Amino acid sequence: MLREVGAAPGVLGTEQIPALEAAGRVLAEEITADRDYPPFPRSARDGFAVRAADLPGELRVIGEVRAGELYPGSVGIGEAVEIMTGAPLPAGADAVVMIEHTERSGDRVLISRSLKMGENFNAQGIEAKSGSIVLPAGRRLGFAEIALLAMVGRECATVYRRPRVAILPTGDEIVEAGQRPEPFQIRNSNAWSMAVQVSRAGGDPQILPIARDNYESTRGLIEQGLSQDLLLLSGGVSAGKYDIVERVLADLGARFFFDRVLIQPGQPLVFGAARGKFFFGLPGNPASTMVTFEVFARAAVDVLGGASESPLPLLQARLSKDVRQKPGLTRFLPAQVSPDGSTVAPEPWQGSGDVNSLARANAFLVTEPDRESWAAGEMIRVLLK
Ligand code: AMP
Ligand code: MG
Repeated sequence: MLREVGAAPGVLGTEQIPALEAAGRVLAEEITADRDYPPFPRSARDGFAVRAADLPGELRVIGEVRAGELYPGSVGIGEAVEIMTGAPLPAGADAVVMIEHTERSGDRVLISRSLKMGENFNAQGIEAKSGSIVLPAGRRLGFAEIALLAMVGRECATVYRRPRVAILPTGDEIVEAGQRPEPFQIRNSNAWSMAVQVSRAGGDPQILPIARDNYESTRGLIEQGLSQDLLLLSGGVSAGKYDIVERVLADLGARFFFDRVLIQPGQPLVFGAARGKFFFGLPGNPASTMVTFEVFARAAVDVLGGASESPLPLLQARLSKDVRQKPGLTRFLPAQVSPDGSTVAPEPWQGSGDVNSLARANAFLVTEPDRESWAAGEMIRVLLK
């Protein structure tokens, strides 16, 4: 979808950064293996390097090889070399027998079981061949990917620039978190949840001042937001008299790709482009803002940031309580997955404004639009929070 409307990975440019600072960033180059992995046939056990054809039998121990050493000789017929985990297999040997399966006396070792060739060591190049691609461009870097960079000797890597994402809260009733609200005012929590979600998606959040529900204020701040790589608005997109976000965007020449989605929380949701930038008008209710970001906007941050689009992490778990709902919408209900991950229960909540429930929940139950009820014991889709 995003690609169809003109988002191309890498349009934001690249930079070289230390690999240790690259967690969460997206690779803009292919990483290749600088040598075979493992670079030598590597013992996976403490034991004896042997010739499999000699077993079972009693062998003569001709030496020892530890990790970090190379055994200078080779293993002949009827011979064995004591070997440690991580050490290179000596020439002539074609298997490693575990120490637990041996009886040593002096320079003799008795092995009463047989062994297949290739057992208990990793052949040279079996994990990656020299010159092969170990990380493709577009891969987001986590701890294992960064370990791989270190393994192949790359202290720096070329990554895509992080997309700058403008966050624009709207509403006459909204005050900043540090302010003391009047009884009829609400603190701006959406800018904070969105900033965290943007950072988590690899973006660089830029929080703008709160737009008031009038044309001038909203227009000025939307124009500021459109100077960034992506604009996320919260609120002002429902059908209310003072919901003017869409009018302002239309006046700025916006193309609208959709302005409603059949999910709850989140029905009014605007996605479009103006002045060469994409924008999302997310509904203002905190749960709606959070859910629509995860389900729709996260993919835009991913793609603008050069990452290959990642699917929503939907899993299945067994319901521990009955669930009923009105059909027609796909619902994302705050839920609690049990510590062992096997069962899930809906978390009590009072609707889309209930941030307390969302903070208690560790997941969302995802219901299908054409079903009314699920009985305890049935499997249901779950989106981890
Ligand atoms: P709206 O989409 O503008 O109609 O807002 C829907 C609901 O979300 C209203 O109850 C707002 O007070 C609330 N809301 C809107 N923006 C924010 C925000 N930035 N932080 C917390 N709540 C908000
Ligand atoms: Mg509003």
